[in-house]
Amino acid sequence: THFGFKTVKEEEKEQLVGSVFRNVASKYDVMNDFMSAGVHRLWKDHLISVLNPSKETKLLDVAGGTGDIAFRFLDHCKKAYGADSEASVTVVDINPAMLEVGMQRSKAMGYSDSGKISFQEGNAENLSNIPDASVDAYTIAFGIRNCTHVDRVVAEAYRVLKPGGRFTVLEFGQVENPLVKGIYDIYSFQVIPKLGQVVAGDAESYQYLVESIRKFPPQPKFAQMIKDAGFTLVGKGWEDLTFGVAAIHTGFKL
Ligand code: SAM
Repeated sequence: THFGFKTVKEEEKEQLVGSVFRNVASKYDVMNDFMSAGVHRLWKDHLISVLNPSKETKLLDVAGGTGDIAFRFLDHCKKAYGADSEASVTVVDINPAMLEVGMQRSKAMGYSDSGKISFQEGNAENLSNIPDASVDAYTIAFGIRNCTHVDRVVAEAYRVLKPGGRFTVLEFGQVENPLVKGIYDIYSFQVIPKLGQVVAGDAESYQYLVESIRKFPPQPKFAQMIKDAGFTLVGKGWEDLTFGVAAIHTGFKL
């Protein structure tokens, strides 16, 4: 950006991302299951076990959409710590339609009056409602690749985390194994847009999702960005899931 103006490309990306998630909000959860054959559930479960929350963890789940991470987190804490769990989560998303679905789910699951979960409209690139050093953990699952300035998202995560806090990203990755890559490419470019058309009546949104996955930096490059923002990595900084179709990146603010 120059002089604070957004470029045409940035505007276009923001509008596109907005319309994609408006179009898919009501079918989002079903489509996830369908497109990934349920595997996204395993990845998300794994994210929570990596996070390993304590009974007081205050989590900020950004681009939290319909609450998949937030509810897993609360369920985990309830199971692990019972009634005296003080763990809580704030879900931030830029799209009110996704949050609306999340709030309905929260009600259905009996969490809405618990004081353990809240929903806020906001942009991952500028979390103006979240004070500095105020959360123990920050998660963003399948959200960062939709953001225009990934570096700003990581910098904001660093700002809002308390010292000792943990930044955890679940995102699609790049597949290296040539055999798996061949199958994955056919699935991504031929099958997914058609499934989007048939099941959600919307090939374009799913075409966008596939393209956004390919444009996101490969795992080593993204790990370096996290490091450059000030986070301390453990080992190489990420774990591949399902041959790198997805990856969990993590860094500590020390
Ligand atoms: N985290 C949820 C999950 O794993 O099921 C939702 C993931 S969904 C693929 C991506 C979400 O990112 C959408 O809900 C979208 O509205 C949100 N999003 C896109 N750009 C955003 C931004 N700049 N700030 C906050 N949320 C954003």
